[in-house]
Amino acid sequence: MAMNYYVMTLFPELIMDTMSHSITKRALEKGLINLEAINIRDYAQNKNRHVDDYIYGGGSGMLIQAEPVWLCYKDLMKRIGKGNTRVLYMSPQGRTFDQSMANALSHNDNIVFLCGHYEGIDERALELINPIHVSIGDFVLTGGELPAIMMMDAITRQISGVLGSDDSAEDESFYNGLLEYPQYTRPPVYEGLEVPQVLLSGNHKLINEWRLDKSIERTKERRPDLYKKYKDKRKKKKKKK
Ligand code: SAM
Repeated sequence: MAMNYYVMTLFPELIMDTMSHSITKRALEKGLINLEAINIRDYAQNKNRHVDDYIYGGGSGMLIQAEPVWLCYKDLMKRIGKGNTRVLYMSPQGRTFDQSMANALSHNDNIVFLCGHYEGIDERALELINPIHVSIGDFVLTGGELPAIMMMDAITRQISGVLGSDDSAEDESFYNGLLEYPQYTRPPVYEGLEVPQVLLSGNHKLINEWRLDKSIERTKERRPDLYKKYKDKRKKKKKKK
């Protein structure tokens, strides 16, 4: 069954335009994912269709009001109906998105992304909706659209049939807790730099061993935090045996 993405946003074109390239475009064309961007502004209950207002208690900036967000959400949930649905609020205050979250989310039927803008969304809308707060890192962006696009991209890569062959995701960084090994394509020598001989040998056992060694070496050097987790996991596995 296809994965259905619903993005609640003030910038639906940004979502639709960015998703209609490369792998996500092909996934849409093949019907492996469906995408709908819903304009929160369509739920504004005033003539000028404004959705933001000043913040109680003072402070700079504007806030998206609770009403258009709540009405938009209720309408959407009525349409989606039953199914395995996750609702995510894009927020710098949330849990940091990572590969394991992308894998887990790829098993849902529906994912709703709620994108904030200005200084965010009136807390009461968040209380009513009760979404999972998810961040893409410790920095503040202008809106939740880029985080939602990033997450949809990473999740889509985990859906069966999206990548050229099902095992291409398995070779990538983070899949086995390690960073990916170095890769080369033609020509065999460039600016005096040679492709490692083992990769030209045709010996798959040796190639796999070389790749694993390089992955370990690279992870140890570039991401000591990941390397420690990898080592601890292996220790635990050995103990169990
Ligand atoms: N005032 C908010 C705070 O300090 O937590 C930040 C608001 S930010 C300018 C506007 C919107 O961008 C947020 O509501 C959220 O949807 C999105 N956003 C900004 N940074 C983000 C991040 N690191 N991860 C996910 N979403 C983010």
